[in-house]
Amino acid sequence: MNRNRENNVKKTIMEQTLDRLGKREEAPVIVFLLLLLLYVISALTVSLTAGSQRVVVFGGNPVSIYTFAGVFASVSNLCIVLMVVFCGTRGFIASVAVLLVQCPMILAGIIARGNLTSMPGLFGNLLTLIVVCFIHVNNRKLDDSRQKLREQASTDVLTGLPNGFASTELINGLIRENIPFAAVTIDINNFKSINDLMGFDMGNKALVEIASRWRSIADGGLSGTNDFITRINGDEFSLIVRDYSSEEEVVKTIRLYEQALEEKLCIERYEFVANASFGYALFPEDGQTKDALITNSVAAMREIKRINSSEHILHFSFNLLKTHEQLIMENKVRDALDHDRIGFRLQPQFDISHRLRGFEALARMKDENGDSISPVEFIPAAEKAGLIDSLDLTVYRKASAFFGEIIKRTGADIVLCINASVKHLMKSDFIDEIREILTAGGMSGEHLEVEITESIMIESAEKAIDCLKKLTDMGVRIAIDDFGTGYSSLSYLNIFPSEILKIDKSFIDKINEEESEAKYVEAIISLAHVLDYRVIAEGVEEQEQLDILRRIGCDYIQGFFWGRPLSAEDAGALVTESFPSS
Ligand code: C2E
Ligand code: MG
Ligand code: MG
Repeated sequence: MNRNRENNVKKTIMEQTLDRLGKREEAPVIVFLLLLLLYVISALTVSLTAGSQRVVVFGGNPVSIYTFAGVFASVSNLCIVLMVVFCGTRGFIASVAVLLVQCPMILAGIIARGNLTSMPGLFGNLLTLIVVCFIHVNNRKLDDSRQKLREQASTDVLTGLPNGFASTELINGLIRENIPFAAVTIDINNFKSINDLMGFDMGNKALVEIASRWRSIADGGLSGTNDFITRINGDEFSLIVRDYSSEEEVVKTIRLYEQALEEKLCIERYEFVANASFGYALFPEDGQTKDALITNSVAAMREIKRINSSEHILHFSFNLLKTHEQLIMENKVRDALDHDRIGFRLQPQFDISHRLRGFEALARMKDENGDSISPVEFIPAAEKAGLIDSLDLTVYRKASAFFGEIIKRTGADIVLCINASVKHLMKSDFIDEIREILTAGGMSGEHLEVEITESIMIESAEKAIDCLKKLTDMGVRIAIDDFGTGYSSLSYLNIFPSEILKIDKSFIDKINEEESEAKYVEAIISLAHVLDYRVIAEGVEEQEQLDILRRIGCDYIQGFFWGRPLSAEDAGALVTESFPSS
């Protein structure tokens, strides 16, 4: 016992945690006490019934009471076996004790009664004692090998630290018991360049050195908190901090691990400095499940790495998740571009008499499972990731190839409208791209319309106007998209070399609900006409909206009421139907 306690004192916090992880679950004390009670009752019943000569009638037959002794003896033996199997050392000691006490009592009974009827009971007892010892020794062996297996499964081979499995087990345990902790994800900065410049072997040695510095902080309890450091994989580590009184204390602890890297690493003849990024999430404030906490601490770690500042520690905040979701969406866009999962739909535009004017090409994207993702999600992600020009160009090429072919076949005088993001338009080769798609599709500039938003004027008016002029020189028309959602400054209309104004759906939605809204839209249309613009109403969904727009002089209609975005095939059929004589 004493040696055990001594061992426990010598054991580091980390080893104690691992011990706890490897321990076999024992039955609760209450189960042990119930088994013991059942055993005592059965044993007493055996001694009371064993010598009795009385007979009772059972199921219509006379039965001697002493025959019940055998039944209760079996129950008491069963209790003994269950205690040894399920109640650990406590069960074993109690079983041996009661069996040892019982033997001399049975022997005394035999001597006192002077007959040998209780002799089988004595042998039964001794046999049970042997079985109990056998089960206990076997249990110990099983526990030892289970512990060894558990240690192997929970230890990182390279650094000797516990691994991701151990970290997950500990997090699950802490969540189960509702114990507050901080989950810290650590990633060594620029570790790839250490590996690339100095070789894999040196990289491994650097990891071992870093792990040993961190281990001594955790083992030595230097931080004042209870720390558990593990290596997850590659250059990624995880730290679980417990027993802190404030968040400042968590940061103080993490700072200690950061400072441990300030001293140069000496690997063979080389000396170099390493540093790491630390992201942390607190339980329960920042997440209630293991997955949420890990995801959140990783998001914080990635963000601080991305910012690339002198500060290397960041607490998770819910705004970061957007960045993380954004990253996921960016990857989806990249993947869709690589695997040709970007397509287009064509939404028809009509003049007010329902004659087909043309189509707006709208980008469509599918993820790896074939599920469609809305442009409202993937367009902003593509813009942020610098992928919008590739995405736009894919849509332009596919839509213009189809469109060029259909006007050649039908001779229809229709227009293809394409959306251009500000970032894309500002690129120096935008004009070349437009030239390329016109040539490839065999279309003249008059068949193309480029939709831009007002924001272009704010971002870079001069450069934008220069680019738009080059487009109009090629015969391409410019439309101002989503008018009303941005600055809605009519003064821009004078500066833009454009001739089409698209009034945003949000105005059309209210046009039949509020008189003032209809008046406002009417004023925009009149002014646009004065400035020589044609007006398209976007998102027309109802007859009533259409009637009002017709009354107030709108030129063109786009919306679900007259046409949803169509597949190329359906758009082709609509052109053939609209221009039958061509
Ligand atoms: P947008 O250019 O204003 O396109 C019109 C959007 O309104 C389309 O949504 C269209 O499906 C939707 N719409 C049209 N009529 C109705 C209607 O009656 N009811 C309703 N509820 N919606 C209607 P979509 O396809 O989701 O596109 C959203 C936005 O994504 C577009 O707005 C445009 O800004 C952008 N986008 C789409 N394709 C491209 C592209 O190829 N390149 C770039 N840069 N942006 C694109
Ligand atoms: Mg548009
Ligand atoms: Mg629009």
